[in-house]
Amino acid sequence: MLTEAEVLSLWEAGLGQPPVRRSLALAVAGGAERPDELTVGQREGLLLSLHEKGFGGALPCQVACPDCGEQLALTVDVTELRTEEPPRESATLLADGVAVEFRPLRCADLLAVSAETGDARLALLRRTVIAARRDATEIPVAALADSVLEAIAVALPEVDPQADISLALDCSGCGHAWLAPFDVGGYLWAEIEACAHRLLFDIHALASAYGWTEAEVLSVSPARRRFYLEAGAW
Ligand SMILES: [Zn+2]
Repeated sequence: MLTEAEVLSLWEAGLGQPPVRRSLALAVAGGAERPDELTVGQREGLLLSLHEKGFGGALPCQVACPDCGEQLALTVDVTELRTEEPPRESATLLADGVAVEFRPLRCADLLAVSAETGDARLALLRRTVIAARRDATEIPVAALADSVLEAIAVALPEVDPQADISLALDCSGCGHAWLAPFDVGGYLWAEIEACAHRLLFDIHALASAYGWTEAEVLSVSPARRRFYLEAGAW
């Protein structure tokens, strides 16, 4: 269980931060000791667990059908998004005659590339390359064709299955079926922000009405707080 004070601290720490740093801070709150070394999938797994701990395992979502625009409301369970398959150290693929050994993306890669300029997607894919060879000749990463890098993008879920979280959806309006990527970090942050805003409004109302400090308001149980708020509205 996340305490209300912890939710407020997480919200304050994440305010104004780019999503990559925010998700990293949330992964630390979820128990990561060396967050930079986490693969993206390991980070997503921690964020799913943190959601479960703080807000429960059910994730209500609203998604617009990309075909007809119909708004679909659904509730996804954390267990549907979680995979038990751990990341692999590396894998090899063959694309355009080039044999590439690659590894999963790590949080350190995301941090490094978010600070760079240029094509972030290709820069990230280049960072996953351990070695590339055509026949016996080593190819420098900078010389790899975009098509080879795109082949790595397609194969990345094989080495880090939890990094690829998608919902298989079909529209009740037009029957269109599609895979919608699910942004765990964005979802969790929206929950934290909404919860923090509710708490801060309650603190403001009760502090104004009774002269309590923030800590005093938070020490009152939510049920009693609700009563005092309603009593204050009379
Ligand atoms: Zn539709």
